[in-house]
Amino acid sequence: MNRKIAVCIKSVPDPDLYGSITLDPVTKTLRREGVKSVVNPADKHAIELAIQLKEQFGATVTLLSMGPDSAQRELREGLSYGADAAFLLSDRKFGGADSLATSYVLAQGLEKAGPFDLILTGNESADGATTHVPSQIGEWLGLPHIMDVVVAGGLGIRNPETWEKAKKLAAALDGAVGYTRPLIDLGLEKTDENMIGASGKSVRPKLYLAFGISDASHHVCGMKDSELILSVNRDENAEIFHVSDYKVVADCGEILDALLKELDIS
Ligand SMILES: Cc1cc2nc3c(=O)[nH]c(=O)nc-3n(C[C@H](O)[C@H](O)[C@H](O)COP(=O)(O)OP(=O)(O)OC[C@H]3O[C@@H](n4cnc5c(N)ncnc54)[C@H](O)[C@@H]3O)c2cc1C
Repeated sequence: MNRKIAVCIKSVPDPDLYGSITLDPVTKTLRREGVKSVVNPADKHAIELAIQLKEQFGATVTLLSMGPDSAQRELREGLSYGADAAFLLSDRKFGGADSLATSYVLAQGLEKAGPFDLILTGNESADGATTHVPSQIGEWLGLPHIMDVVVAGGLGIRNPETWEKAKKLAAALDGAVGYTRPLIDLGLEKTDENMIGASGKSVRPKLYLAFGISDASHHVCGMKDSELILSVNRDENAEIFHVSDYKVVADCGEILDALLKELDIS
């Protein structure tokens, strides 16, 4: 069966030129004139994954973008990587759209061009960086999306083996991985790409599983709006329990072992 994969991409001002970008003082939208646009860097990863899946399993890859006419250039670049079709959703009325309006337009386009077996996006745009659009598309279309579940690890994880188990759990639940800053300091993660908190990402998944995380405000501000928070901490007085719906007082390695066993994952 030939699978249909859609990739939503965005034309963004070249991140190398951010020093020269200004905002319109009245509309507060970006002044794009004279600033070179590129395919949003994270979206290039999504295109690459789609092309890999196409080569491995056979699929047609369709690109979708919402933006001004000039975004055709970025769609053509995507086609040159091996995508099969591209659609640009463009209307003056879309100018200055926030993430909710953008995701709605993209969802409508996906419905019209689809149905698709898989919809890929970058996890954030380099200019807006809200990280909202991927999960909002999933919500508009009533589809499960990776941001439904976040499995997050903190310093209580400590060793690479336990962290690997947390990642396996995230994969088994079709979820995303998040972490606190100490995991980067420990060398378990190389970048702050999926760090949650004040200087990282804000997430609002349906389920946030926190393993070995305290209540540092720098972290909590990025996850406290999750619909349901379950925390595992060996300290029964751990402050994270105050923002949690469910608390498990236990060693996080033991709970991860038990969950993976329950899910039949070695
Ligand atoms: C300017 C600034 C910005 C920052 N921005 C961020 C940010 O965006 N995101 C971020 O995450 N941090 C950020 N930080 C760091 C932040 O302040 C905290 O230091 C960090 O979030 C704490 O991480 P943690 O909860 O993993 O570690 P800790 O606070 O050390 O908590 C570890 C928890 O694990 C528990 N534990 C230990 N061993 C086990 C075990 N075996 N099983 C179960 N539980 C166990 C402990 O009881 C403890 O509650 C920032 C700091 C500064 C100064």
